[in-house]
Amino acid sequence: MRIAFLGLGHMGLPMARNLRTTGHEVIGFDVAPAAVTAAVEAGLAVAGSGTEAATGADVVITMFQSGAQVLDAYRGSADGPGLLAVAAPGALFIDCSTIAVDEARAAHALAEEAGHRSLDAPVSGGVVGAENATLAFMVGGSDEDFEAARPLLEAMGRRVVHCGGAGLGQAAKVCNNMILAVSQIAVAEAFVLGERLGLSHQALFDVASNASGQCWALTTNCPVPGPVPTSPANRDYQPGFAGALMNKDLGLAEQAVESTGVEARMGMLARELYAAFAAGEGAAQDFSGIINTIRAASV
Ligand code: NAD
Repeated sequence: MRIAFLGLGHMGLPMARNLRTTGHEVIGFDVAPAAVTAAVEAGLAVAGSGTEAATGADVVITMFQSGAQVLDAYRGSADGPGLLAVAAPGALFIDCSTIAVDEARAAHALAEEAGHRSLDAPVSGGVVGAENATLAFMVGGSDEDFEAARPLLEAMGRRVVHCGGAGLGQAAKVCNNMILAVSQIAVAEAFVLGERLGLSHQALFDVASNASGQCWALTTNCPVPGPVPTSPANRDYQPGFAGALMNKDLGLAEQAVESTGVEARMGMLARELYAAFAAGEGAAQDFSGIINTIRAASV
């Protein structure tokens, strides 16, 4: 089986490396020369263009920043053919980028029209998960295509969940991250309120982590230093999960909320607060650093 892996950035390069380690023939490509250099240094075979990598490939994996990049690469342009035109007939296209549900569905439709199979398979777990092959994959597409992709995804991740048909992997990701954003803000507000009331961080943590306030934003990503020594708050909010990425994902949540007409007031307020956070220093900080914005805005 010949696998083309396109998009060798922070996530893509370690993922492609893990795929190759499990004995698959992987040929990579990235439009950024620095990413190509890093891939060559990591010992990955790299083609001279995306279409060169994908020509005759049985599987084409993409790990780009945006849906527009995925759709453009699938379609090609006046300058040359796209990935769909050059892959082997009936190839399996797996897009691991985080993109809008509607864009993922458009990518599925294009692949199907071209006679290929396709899956949306966004990930969570960050760069550390990509490096250690412990990513979680949320997958949308048919049962058959999911089963065909499973061994490849398991080579790059630890949990692989089939969420349903086309676009539903992205849907699961966007819903999960909307919960996460809202709960991280709620936990931060509670710690600032506790501070003003004279409650110690540790006392609030000891109560809430064993009570109904318990959640990942508290017990793993605790926004104050001390109670959870591994949380980003203990290292000056170095990510972790950067504010810029949370802001991007909430933008996708907003698109989904608008296109479905759902009344998601908390999610959209979180979207607004993280857009402001990511417009400043928060872009490069862990998203739990929003506690400092809340503290500063509290009179
Ligand atoms: P990145 O910017 O480091 O990598 C993306 C790469 O795609 C870049 O190197 C870019 O040059 C390349 N690219 C774009 N168009 C291309 C094309 N047509 N052909 C070949 N290469 C192309 O981004 P990343 O941090 O690796 O994230 C990738 C995706 O994973 C994003 O959608 C992101 O939202 C998602 N994600 C990232 C993280 C994280 O912690 N970084 C976690 C979960 C999900």
